Amino acid sequence: MKYLSTVRTALLATSVMLLCGIEIGATEVATEDHPVLAEIANRVDAEVERAVLEKLVGFGTRHTASDTASNTRGIGAARRWIKFRFEEISRDCSGCIKIETPATVVSGERLPNPTDIVDVLGIQQGSSDSNRVLVISAHLDSRITDVMNATADAPGANDDGSGVAAVMEAARILSHYKFASTIVYAVLSGEEQGLYGGKLLAQTAQLKNWRVEAQLNNDIIGNIHAQSGVIDNTHARVFSEGTKATETTQEAARRRYNGGELDTPARNLARYMATMAHQYLTNFEVRMVYRTDRFSRGGDQVPMLEAGYPAVRVTEAVENYSRQHQDVRSENGIAYGDVIAGVDFSYLAQVTRLNLITLASLAWAPAPPTGVKIEGALTADTKVTWSPVVGAVGYEVWWRDTTTPQWTHHRRAPGNQTSLTLVGVSIDDMFFGVSAISADGFASPIVFPGAAGSFEPPSQLPSQVTGK
Ligand SMILES: [Zn+2]
Repeated sequence: MKYLSTVRTALLATSVMLLCGIEIGATEVATEDHPVLAEIANRVDAEVERAVLEKLVGFGTRHTASDTASNTRGIGAARRWIKFRFEEISRDCSGCIKIETPATVVSGERLPNPTDIVDVLGIQQGSSDSNRVLVISAHLDSRITDVMNATADAPGANDDGSGVAAVMEAARILSHYKFASTIVYAVLSGEEQGLYGGKLLAQTAQLKNWRVEAQLNNDIIGNIHAQSGVIDNTHARVFSEGTKATETTQEAARRRYNGGELDTPARNLARYMATMAHQYLTNFEVRMVYRTDRFSRGGDQVPMLEAGYPAVRVTEAVENYSRQHQDVRSENGIAYGDVIAGVDFSYLAQVTRLNLITLASLAWAPAPPTGVKIEGALTADTKVTWSPVVGAVGYEVWWRDTTTPQWTHHRRAPGNQTSLTLVGVSIDDMFFGVSAISADGFASPIVFPGAAGSFEPPSQLPSQVTGK
């Protein structure tokens, strides 16, 4: 079943001209139907993404330990081309993107010789709250059957050329808009050898004191043919951790008793993305998966979670294992290898749209509320309180039945008050959260009370990311 790769085009008749994005003249707060998000979605171009992917595959291999001196083959050439593309994109927006290339030398089980790990970051500085950071990431490196083979062709079209194409498309399009918070377009390396680029990204975020509110890690986002024969081009999966990697023993005890195992910030980011897809994309929905990643497998969101940053894995709805981590070959009539033929560009564009509208909406919204608390035991009502958020003109309190996956009920707190009593709503039977709303009606993710749901990183920096 094929879909039409269109997004909702019925825009509000009252929309104002949008030149630099934040010029939205609404005086009334609306929480939905932002024409600018439909406009951003419409700008995603599958053919531009195809050209990026062809360029990446053209480097032969992008194995982390491959050649770095050649300008035509290997990870070094690929990294330099990414940097060059960021420079081109930056020229088109009067230098709005700064390029940084954090680097480290690593050796390990899958990298016996000391090897350069270099991330290429395009940083679109926020206009007023630049320490607040939203990240879209993917990994540049590729592999074949033998993870140590650094010389044979390893096209890595879908894993993870598709994700890199989405990151570059995000930079190309979002660089034409202005945001209060910073967006980081991150092209990582060393993923296949041990998530080294993700660790380097987490270290970089810590060093720079970034308040990372979300990392959307795109890894394998372009295939629609499952190994089983199922074809699915109408969903993306978003994986989110159930309990925080950084949770303390005390926090875990409280969470076990009062709930919160369904409401990490990553999980509420996944819910946010599901809402965005439903609202702005046609024939495209998010399938939330209540796991950190696929069973026993990993991605570059993991080191970020270990550093206490909210992060999700965005990936295709169904996977084809003959096309992942395989030598390019034909065997018994089956085509193996991660080649361009395995990527559906209309589908890739849809997953890209999901990322872009999520990033833009998050970046225009205020930061997620902090200090969220609930009280009301032994009373008929529930009182939700939170700390004021810079740039918020109001707050929406949400609640849902404890067994329901999405938030279902909401009520606006009057004015910009930072508490709301829900009369007759029992604290025992519902889960609660609160979202901050901007003057233009952009909503932050919903924040579940306490440490379990907080978007803030733990005050004590975990040691995992500073290690190996
Ligand atoms: Zn991958």
